[in-house]
Amino acid sequence: MTPHFLIVHHSFTPKDLPANQAENSFNNTHKNRGFPVSSMGWYVGYHYVIYGNGELRQYRGDKEIGAHCKEQSMNFQSLGICLSGNFDTEIPNPLQTETLRTLLQQKSAEWGIASANIYPHRKFAPYKSCYGTKLADDWARNLIVSVNPINQGENRAVIIKKQGEPALYILEGNVALPFGVDFTTYQQDFGGATVVELASFEFAKLKISVMKIVKA
Ligand SMILES: [Zn+2]
Repeated sequence: MTPHFLIVHHSFTPKDLPANQAENSFNNTHKNRGFPVSSMGWYVGYHYVIYGNGELRQYRGDKEIGAHCKEQSMNFQSLGICLSGNFDTEIPNPLQTETLRTLLQQKSAEWGIASANIYPHRKFAPYKSCYGTKLADDWARNLIVSVNPINQGENRAVIIKKQGEPALYILEGNVALPFGVDFTTYQQDFGGATVVELASFEFAKLKISVMKIVKA
């Protein structure tokens, strides 16, 4: 399968549970529920779990179907990302939030998924509170919108593409600087930097600066 959505969950178990213990519990519970084993040998239905200490572990390949959201065939077109914790009663550890932000940036760029397609589980399963009532529907999505630092290290600029437009922008704080080349040319000339595609309503939150050409 090709993922088109990123669906974020909470585990409903306490976030301070040690990773190995929580992992064992997820694997056994999901095995007992009849979830299919992954090519990596796990029954855990999520592709990724972020534990209370911020550690990321993978259980399914990105192209393998998941077992985390049966509504609207989402298991066949999304990556399931679970934060260990019960966010009806607690909030994520900042280490978890940072790991999630990085993972969402990577996966949205890798699979060309707009941040508008990052959802809490409850969006598709309204009878659930998942990823927790303490977190707003746009909490996960907003981790990679308008709060991105521009430079991820030396010259790793975050490149913004507005959905439906060929133009590219470089994000500096919440200011979008026109990049002066179109997306196709960019891909040919400057491979490597992260490209994040924003829906129009998200793009509208950014300030647009005067025209400025920036070298990659
Ligand atoms: Zn869920």
